[in-house]
Amino acid sequence: MKTIQRSAFALFCTLFLGAPGVTAQSADEGVIRIGLQAGHWRSIEAPDELARIRSNGTRGGGKEEWEVTLDIAERAAELLRARGYEVEILPATVPPGYRADLFIAIHADGFHSPAASGFSVAPPRRDATGRAGAFAEVLAGSYREATELRHRVATRRMQGYYAFNSRRYHHALDPSTVGVIIETGFLTSPVDREILLNAPDRSARGIADAVERFLPVSAVVANDSP
Ligand SMILES: [Zn+2]
Repeated sequence: MKTIQRSAFALFCTLFLGAPGVTAQSADEGVIRIGLQAGHWRSIEAPDELARIRSNGTRGGGKEEWEVTLDIAERAAELLRARGYEVEILPATVPPGYRADLFIAIHADGFHSPAASGFSVAPPRRDATGRAGAFAEVLAGSYREATELRHRVATRRMQGYYAFNSRRYHHALDPSTVGVIIETGFLTSPVDREILLNAPDRSARGIADAVERFLPVSAVVANDSP
């Protein structure tokens, strides 16, 4: 059953991405693959099933949300690659049935009052892996340590993030992918902007450290050693 699903999936990738292996599972090869999604980046390219996400998100401090999330994603990717991970930066639309060892959707919040401040992290409402909740906790801890921003309770809307909803959308995570979403802070808050715009390396470090704590490279390397 599993083999059939896999080959069907491989065919799907070939048809839709033109590159089999782009989303191939890699744990077997001893490589840990991390997908970092820059929220709202290239959202205009969203397919019809995701027409409602064609927006730039929030803005603040002269920046659009996608500029901020892409910047953090690129910095986190650099840190993770230096630590031995294979990292892919994804736009607003994820490839159909996207597979990785960990997926992190990176966003920033906005509110009409500049007093709203802090970050939040959520796993999917339905999590087939049973591990996303634990990863969300690790991420919240390391992000708080790195940024010293206030930890807010995640919203139900975050738990229902479109990329988590493989029942409804083709362009969503494969149910085997451990995925979480982080709202990295409020772009409308001067306090949070100090981190998001002036010290984005701290946000990036919070994300990279969480990956390393949850899925250390050494564990996979050790397993593969003869
Ligand atoms: Zn957003």
